[in-house]
Amino acid sequence: MQVKELKENLFLVSFDPIFLGEVLNYNIVLLLNDKNEAMLIDTGFKRHFNQLKKYLDDKNITIIKVIITHFHRDHIGGLSKLNDVVKYGSKKADITLAPNFENKSFDIYKPTICIDDVLDIQFGNFDIHLSHNPGHSIDGLLVEIDNKFLVVGDDMIYTKDQEPMLPYCSNRDFEMHLKSIKRLKNEVIDKTVIPMHGQPESNIDYLQNDLDNRYKYLQWKVNNKDKQNKEFEIESGIRFVDYSRIKKQNKKEL
Ligand SMILES: [Zn+2]
Repeated sequence: MQVKELKENLFLVSFDPIFLGEVLNYNIVLLLNDKNEAMLIDTGFKRHFNQLKKYLDDKNITIIKVIITHFHRDHIGGLSKLNDVVKYGSKKADITLAPNFENKSFDIYKPTICIDDVLDIQFGNFDIHLSHNPGHSIDGLLVEIDNKFLVVGDDMIYTKDQEPMLPYCSNRDFEMHLKSIKRLKNEVIDKTVIPMHGQPESNIDYLQNDLDNRYKYLQWKVNNKDKQNKEFEIESGIRFVDYSRIKKQNKKEL
């Protein structure tokens, strides 16, 4: 686990890829106030959360709030250990959660404060703007911190070495993801983007070029639903690291 200070009281907590030779790291954003309290953005898998919890316990810091960018397994693993905290998440969280739990109860994972459109909150000295951004997942949230940092969930997804990974539409809705990418083209201007996989990035040329490539891929996918992804690479010359290989292994977790 690496803890990197991005700004006073704002940290990126990063975990190496779980599987030998794999490329996907996992991030949790940690915000502190001046009362030894913490707010998290996402929780990683349970094993990630456990490491962070121990780190915070050793410093006598209590987690009181959590924002979830979307309710995929690799982002919510810690919620089962966070009974009494405030949980911000999309009103659409159930759509993502339900298929993973079949007949079992998933109440512990549900948001206690549901975001329908937008919500402004404060934590410590931070002004935080939450907005619903269905794209990678139907329950996507964008988290803007002090108008300077933009937590993008998995709408922009990278390897630990900051290679762009293939856009992934968990709801098989490529047009929905196209809309989120179009929106991000404006949102990323003058911001440091924090992806939940990859590294923080503020180089606007890199970000805009990456978003353009994502847009091209998704547009191609809308028109070529049954084609293999590698055909996009051949046709366009744009290369992404393919997610599906890694996803199979992640399924074993949680
Ligand atoms: Zn993820």
